[in-house]
Amino acid sequence: SSAFAGKRYAILGLARSGLAAAEALLASGAEVVAWDRQDVAREKLAGRAELSDPLELDLTGFDGVIVSPGVPINTHPIAGHAEKYGVPVIGDIELFALARPSLPSHKVVGITGTNGKSTTTALVSHVLEEVGIPVRMGGNIGVPILGEESLPSGGVYVLELSSYQIDLTLSLACDAAALLNITPDHLDRYDDFASYAASKARLFAMQHADQFAVFGTNDPQTNRIAEVEAARRPEGRVKAADQASIAEGQADWPALQGPHNLENAAVAVALLENLGVQPAQWGDAFKSFRGLPHRMEVVGEHDGVLFINDSKATNQASAAPALAAYPANPAPRVHWIVGGLAKEDGLGACEQYLGNVKGAYTIGESGPNFAEMLDEKVAVEKCELLCEAVTRAIANAEAGDIILLSPACASFDQFRDYEKRGEHFCQIVSAIAEAGEAS
Ligand code: ADP
Repeated sequence: SSAFAGKRYAILGLARSGLAAAEALLASGAEVVAWDRQDVAREKLAGRAELSDPLELDLTGFDGVIVSPGVPINTHPIAGHAEKYGVPVIGDIELFALARPSLPSHKVVGITGTNGKSTTTALVSHVLEEVGIPVRMGGNIGVPILGEESLPSGGVYVLELSSYQIDLTLSLACDAAALLNITPDHLDRYDDFASYAASKARLFAMQHADQFAVFGTNDPQTNRIAEVEAARRPEGRVKAADQASIAEGQADWPALQGPHNLENAAVAVALLENLGVQPAQWGDAFKSFRGLPHRMEVVGEHDGVLFINDSKATNQASAAPALAAYPANPAPRVHWIVGGLAKEDGLGACEQYLGNVKGAYTIGESGPNFAEMLDEKVAVEKCELLCEAVTRAIANAEAGDIILLSPACASFDQFRDYEKRGEHFCQIVSAIAEAGEAS
């Protein structure tokens, strides 16, 4: 496309999304000045773009500075520098929004929330694919949307949007947008909880009044935004996720276990119905959805004990529904591996489900503190390492029990990221399985 012919952009940060932005801009005839503090990243554009740091540039005449969502624009000097020249600081999603007029007719779905974004994005994309609608999935899910081939007419772009990405987006009017929930997280990047919520609300403020919005129903912040949006739109353009109407089917959806996934599924259904997909069409597709790794992922069953990798549960609001997913039957069945680098204090959201917990195994930096909090409520074993926790859980587990890694914490105290933590859990589980078979 020639959406950017003759425009000038500076790009700061050449990781996946920055590089995809550079390539898309160059391909459509824009002039690009790009920078990354790592030589290897810069080399990818050698000879094709000017390589200079936007912070040291005179930005007069530039159409925008593109930064990756990892750049903390609340504190980074690029924000003030760009403002001096009246140049907007944007992300790759805004470039996508600007390129839309040059794309064949299409729809855009945007999905945000503190938890459940990836699951819902993948689910909606899966169903659209199954019913034969051309789809491109991208954004925070790890695929830069600008790197994807553009869709034939009638296709749907499904975008997972973090609040950081929304902060860098000025003009994306999603045909259908969803907010799953807002609970405290990422507060290092926002002044307070209210500004974090305001960031999510902007996804809906950018929509036109006749476009569709759907909201989760589990927290006050989300409800408040839903009310504001309903007030400015015609009847029927704002919906609350209706879990009751789909609760029946959920038993047949193996990758959508737990009350949180019921909420995600309800949001997905509202989006799909808005896109014209009929209930008769989506049932089978929900059944064949495989889920995503590290989210309530069944990674083994040995001697009747089920092993669940929910390493992506990096806050208490996402660990709580994991505990809720396995009710006592008749006695508590969950052996809960919890701990890591705590983000907020406490396990408050999890407390109401401790009745499902047969034993807790604390790991990592927050382990001792969590052990103290859980003590007297459930049986607790203090473990330092994940392998120790799994070993202890197996020693205590009986057929019918569940060993659940749902740490309610970030992983950086012991692992590179939540993926590495989840992979390590899978390795321990399969090593134990092999040892079991050998004996
Ligand atoms: P995100 O992309 O928003 O981080 P994911 O789909 O990757 O969301 O899920 C992150 C974690 O939150 C997983 O542990 C998952 O089981 C849990 N989770 C998924 N959906 C929800 C929800 N609606 N509410 C609370 N927790 C959820």
